[in-house]
Order: sequence, then C-alpha cells, then structure tokens
Amino acid sequence: MVKAVVGANWGDEGKGKITDMLAEKADFIVRFQGGANAGHTIVNDYGKFALHTLPSGVFYDHTTSVIGNGVALNIPVLFNEIKSITDKGVPKPKIVVSNRAQIVMPYHILFDEYEEERLGKASFGSTKSGIAPFYSDKYAKIGFQVSELFDDDLLKEKIPRVCAQKNVILEHLYKKPPIDEAELLNTLHEYRDMVAPYVTDVSLLLDQAIKDGKTILLEGQLGTLKDPDHGIYPMVTSSSTLAAYGAIGAGIPPYEIKQIVTVVKAYSSAVGAGAFVSEIFGDEADELRRRGGDGGEFGATTGRPRRMGWFDCVATKYGCRLQGTTDVAFTVLDVLGYLDEIPVCTGYEIDGEVTTEFPVTSKLEKAKPVLEKLPGWKCEIRGITNYADLPENCRKYIEFVEEHIGYPITMVSNGPGRHDIILR
Ligand code: GDP
Repeated sequence: MVKAVVGANWGDEGKGKITDMLAEKADFIVRFQGGANAGHTIVNDYGKFALHTLPSGVFYDHTTSVIGNGVALNIPVLFNEIKSITDKGVPKPKIVVSNRAQIVMPYHILFDEYEEERLGKASFGSTKSGIAPFYSDKYAKIGFQVSELFDDDLLKEKIPRVCAQKNVILEHLYKKPPIDEAELLNTLHEYRDMVAPYVTDVSLLLDQAIKDGKTILLEGQLGTLKDPDHGIYPMVTSSSTLAAYGAIGAGIPPYEIKQIVTVVKAYSSAVGAGAFVSEIFGDEADELRRRGGDGGEFGATTGRPRRMGWFDCVATKYGCRLQGTTDVAFTVLDVLGYLDEIPVCTGYEIDGEVTTEFPVTSKLEKAKPVLEKLPGWKCEIRGITNYADLPENCRKYIEFVEEHIGYPITMVSNGPGRHDIILR
C-alpha cells in the first residue's frame, strides 16, 4: 500500500506532522523530490526537530527512511542531520539513499547565491541551497549521480568537462573565482565515503516492499502552488511537488499510489516572492504570524518570517485537484481560536469578473480576493479528540472549507503533537 502526503498550497502546511503521525503504521518513508531548501518541523517525545533532507519517519525504529532518486541530495547536510538527531538521543535511524539520486555540488550553492545577487530586487527569494542550479544541471545532463561517485575514471573525465562550462560563467558573468578541479575531486571522494554505507537500488527495494504488502509513505515537500508546471511559475521550486511525481522520484508504478493525503492549513502562509491573493499585512498579519504554527510562522530552514493570508478556497481547491486528493488533512486549526470573525477567500476578482478557478500567473497577479467572514469560536480546541466535541462555529468553518474545495476533510489537526488529531 503506497500513500502520499503532499501539500495543496505554498508549503509549510504541516506535512511533517501528518507524515510523522502516519509513519506510526508505515514501513518505508520516502522523500521523492526537492532538497534541503525547505524543512519540516516535528515535535515528538525526543524534542523539536527541523528536518531538511531526512524523511519525517526517522524517529521510529520500525521504519526505513528512503532518499529517492528524485531528491536533490546534499550529502554534508544529510550527514549533519543524522548527527543532529542522534546527538539528541534518537536511535540511529535506518536510512537508504538511491544510487540514482543526484548530488548537490558545492558550486550549485554558489551559483544560487551569485544569481540571486545578480538579480538583486528581481530575485526569486531562493533559499540559496543550490536547488535550481542542481535541477538545471540534472536536465542538462551534467549532474552527478550517486552511483558515479564510485567510478573514478568517470569522475576524472567528467569533472574537467563540467568545470570548463561552469568556469566561463563564474569568471565572465559573476566575476568570481573558478572551480578548482582537484579540490572538487577530493570533495567528491569525501562525499563517496560519507554516503557509501547507505547506497541502495531503491526502486528494487520498494518493488519488493510492495510485493510483501508493506506500507510506503511518499513524503512531499512544498505544495502544489510551487510545482514548476502547475504552480505560480516562475516563482516555483525546481522539482515537481505533486503526488504523481512520487512514482517517478521513488521509482514505483503510478497505479500503486492508493491514497493521497493532501495537507491543507486552516489559513495561508507563503515564503518567497510571487502573487499571494489572500495576503494580509500589518498588525493583522503580525498577530497571525506570531500565533501561527508551533511558535510562529518562520521558515524552518531560513528563519525568514512567512507571508500570511486568510484561507484561500480557490488556490486550495486547485491545489487538491492537481494532487489527486483522496483525503484532506486540515491543520493548525487551533491557531484561529483568537479571532472574532475569520475571513475566507472564496473567489478571485479578475478584470471585474469573479472566478473560483485558479488562473495562470499573469492573471493571478491581477486577482483581488473575494472575502466572506465566518464567526470565530473564541476558545482553545487543543486536546479535543472527537469531531462532535468541537465548538459549533469551528465545525462550521471546517464544513464551509470542505464544501468550497470539494474534497473530504478526513483529518483535523488541532495541535503540533503527534496525537493532536481528530479523525472524521
Ligand atoms: P511542512 O513543511 O508542511 O511539514 O510544515 P512545517 O513543519 O514547516 O510547518 C508546520 C508548523 O506547524 C510546524 O511548526 C508544526 O509543528 C506546526 N503544526 C503542524 N500541525 C499543527 C497544528 O495542528 N497546530 C499547530 N498549532 N501547529 C501545528
């Protein structure tokens, strides 16, 4: 049984918490896309952790954590992350890394920095983790696969070929020092030694797991609106954030993905540049940001304050549709308990017309939110475990959202902890 846990929005919906919870009954947790540019925050009995590369299942001893071929693998980050959790007393997790995953090179990170610097005000708000240069090279067929680390003849031929191209850009476009080929070879030898104990034919492993009836969770990063095809291009990430890509980024058949849990946050937040129709500003935004998530809405990787907004039915309906949602997990609802009234964006007004369908980016930039106000419930809902025990206005909020997005909300998360969940 393969399940995917993915985001409907701009990321930071609480996928880490939902994955961590579902991992209790899973055998494999697979990262299938993205890199160390975003993070999951997980609160459990060992403490509070921000994970960037490791899947959210690393805290259980019955699960295998898998880095799939679709991931942008930063080997030193992976190593530091393993160390950071074992240092806090978490038992050493079982981790495997796909022999077909590609490696984030030190120069990818530099190119990311230099390009944002060059763009200045027009920059994308990149986390400067090297993700866009990494995926560009992968598709330009000059990336380095994990398997290639073990072939010295190949590396000695490939490094000068790749550096010849990179160094022209470094010197002439960015006016920066060129890559030292010998140093790069040394770095790749270090990477080889670090990753060697984990390298596996992941698609073969997962094929056997499926045949054995094991439960596999595919853990997405970011959300639909950051997908390079279906998101707010060009203010997107560089690998697909959709459950469908889970099949490719893990190396399994698409028809094996039976359940798609799309995580939706009870209000909106976004990082980076790009149109954000239901965005709020000033004190209203500051208060929601301060109360949001678990200890405020600040990036797990960068610490940047997130942009805040009211719940957006248009974006979320679209986000759920593109994921192929079977279940919606509605998260961080407890945070809204302070509001007298809760505005919800139910439509976009574009050139005088109201639509509930999410438009292409050029039209999105002209969209104004159509807001409806729902009454708040003005109390703490953490600790409630039965749906019927939620205040009436809270249930009305959930049911209003469910009707407008058109997908069933089967889980409601009312706190950051693993067991703060209401199943419907
Ligand atoms: P992800 O990238 O989708 O995994 O999301 P993040 O981990 O970046 O952001 C979610 C934040 O909200 C984290 O700080 C979680 O601990 C927290 N969180 C998740 N679910 C809930 C919830 O139901 N209530 C509250 N208050 N916080 C939550």
